[in-house]
Amino acid sequence: MPQRTKEEKAEYMRQWRTEKAEHRRQYRLQYAAEHQEEISAYNSTYYFAHKEEIRPRNNRNTAKYYRRHREEVLAKNALRYALNRAKILAYFADLYQRDRDRILARCAKYRAEHPDKRQALNSAWWKANPGKTAQYNFKRRSSIRNAAICDFTDEEWDILQQVFDFRCVYCGEKAELTRDHLTPVSQGGNHTLHNILPGCQTCNSKKNDGPVPSPVQPLLLAPIPLPKKKKA
Ligand SMILES: [Zn+2]
Repeated sequence: MPQRTKEEKAEYMRQWRTEKAEHRRQYRLQYAAEHQEEISAYNSTYYFAHKEEIRPRNNRNTAKYYRRHREEVLAKNALRYALNRAKILAYFADLYQRDRDRILARCAKYRAEHPDKRQALNSAWWKANPGKTAQYNFKRRSSIRNAAICDFTDEEWDILQQVFDFRCVYCGEKAELTRDHLTPVSQGGNHTLHNILPGCQTCNSKKNDGPVPSPVQPLLLAPIPLPKKKKA
């Protein structure tokens, strides 16, 4: 029998692999089934030893896959969520209970680092929920009407803004100003001059029903009313 050349050997092996493809596949499956624990132990050891290089690679691949199969991935996720909703919610509720402080701290940190993102999300939400916006505004207006004192006039608002040079009393920016209740109306504050200060939308929503973001001095004296426009 003549000696086979290197190329001939390689060709023989290639052929063998092709012919036995199914056999080899079965063998691998059987091996995996029989050595399950061993393999997963090996895999996790390997993963933790090479985490630094594996993780970014995995993330990159996941992102790439997502870009190419976005619709598919979203549909799959939605389906999985629909099927396991109760389980998923229970999982997160449990996680929250166990790790509450850390989660809240992380959220606060993220909010502080991404104020623009949060604002964009907020305004997107209000836009997407016009019914709720109207409801909120209605509730707000009616709670203002029901305040014990409700005598703040548009003229006083003009004067108040002039006094503060049309700047937000909290951050000092010249922006579109809103009537900010020092003591929120929802907490018994009045809709009257000495409980109202001009605040920009950002500071106002940051303050929400909480304490003032920076020390401020309300106008305690009633302003001299602006001269009434003479009727023509
Ligand atoms: Zn402001």
